[in-house]
Amino acid sequence: MNNYSRRKFIYQLGAGAGMLMLSPLSRWQNAVASRPGKKMGIALVGLGSYATYQLAPALLETQNCELAGIVTGTAEKAVKWQERYKIPDKNIYNYGNFDAIADNDAIDIVYVVLPNSMHHEYVIRAAKAGKHVICEKPMAVSMKECHEMIDTCRKSGVRLFIGYRLHFDPYHLAARKFRTSDAGRLQSVDSAFAFRIGDPAQWRLNKSLAGGGSVMDLGVYCIQASRYSIGEEPVSVTAVEEKTDPVKFAQVEETMKMQLEFPGGMTATAMCSYNRFANYLKLTSEKGRFELDSAFSYNGISGRTNNGKLSFPPFNQQAAQMDGFSRCIAEGLPSDADGEEGLKDMRVIEAIYKSAATKTKTAVIED
Ligand code: NDP
Repeated sequence: MNNYSRRKFIYQLGAGAGMLMLSPLSRWQNAVASRPGKKMGIALVGLGSYATYQLAPALLETQNCELAGIVTGTAEKAVKWQERYKIPDKNIYNYGNFDAIADNDAIDIVYVVLPNSMHHEYVIRAAKAGKHVICEKPMAVSMKECHEMIDTCRKSGVRLFIGYRLHFDPYHLAARKFRTSDAGRLQSVDSAFAFRIGDPAQWRLNKSLAGGGSVMDLGVYCIQASRYSIGEEPVSVTAVEEKTDPVKFAQVEETMKMQLEFPGGMTATAMCSYNRFANYLKLTSEKGRFELDSAFSYNGISGRTNNGKLSFPPFNQQAAQMDGFSRCIAEGLPSDADGEEGLKDMRVIEAIYKSAATKTKTAVIED
């Protein structure tokens, strides 16, 4: 069975099981069928820093997908991007006419790279337009929004992925394996991600756009690393907020110190901040240790174990992530960076905020 027949078979199977029966998917199937062997077309929504300096350059290195379109509210950016990436007029949208992307067969995947509180609306609009969706982290600003996004994608018969680039990074894949290595039983997990944030007027400090502060933006990486290093879901959290600049951080948290308790008895400690510097993941076990510093960066991650230095060839996290998701779509494969994964992190984030507000240990609630 060639790739296209296999893809068609998998989707027919899905439709037969009552999962993928709606018209947007048929539109997508027809679109892909009309361009056999072609890469999947991605449209980036929101041409800010991450889209401009990481995702668009990474799309020049991908094997399975390519930059096919853009969605922007800034006309000057549309002109520059069109020239630089040779994007046809018909593949350029603004936030007003975005829904017309439903009729554009060149776009298979919409990648939402907007401020956090806009993820929910644009993921839902993309899904209703029959497009597969990649949504940046944090997935949304509440569990309720995550559920709505997952449900809409499911009903629309499209896939939903979260921009968890570290799920593809070799250093982090090695971190996941440490607990089952010959280093013995895992004993501690400690992580921190922090930087000093600049411009006080930026959306990251505005609660209605960001949903929260350092926890939403940086703490999510520590939560993820704790979860995948331990291989369990936390059952309760204890969080303490620290604020040294109540003017700059009037709307969102500055620093959060967190303890995540896991059902097997492990406790992970973590810290995130918009007013400090830290970037590490440290695991210890009965017979060894595993450490990453610059643990959560795009590149320049370095690491060591008790057996010596960890060393992997240079790696483009974003290209691997977008190729990986495209392959999941094409071959009907599952992904561990899907909407359910984003929801799991949001459960922990909500418990962290509740714990900090009530100053008590707080259960991580399923729904
Ligand atoms: P930027 O502020 O650099 O860009 C956001 C873009 O969103 C803007 O340039 C603008 O694009 C568009 N936008 C639309 N409405 C608004 C609004 N009201 N206020 C501000 N911008 C608006 O943000 P980032 O690129 O750094 O972050 C975007 C998303 O990506 C966030 O969710 C963030 O968490 C995530 N991210 C993920 C990273 C990762 O490693 N996975 C790294 C960095 C960010 P336009 O002018 O085209 O309309």
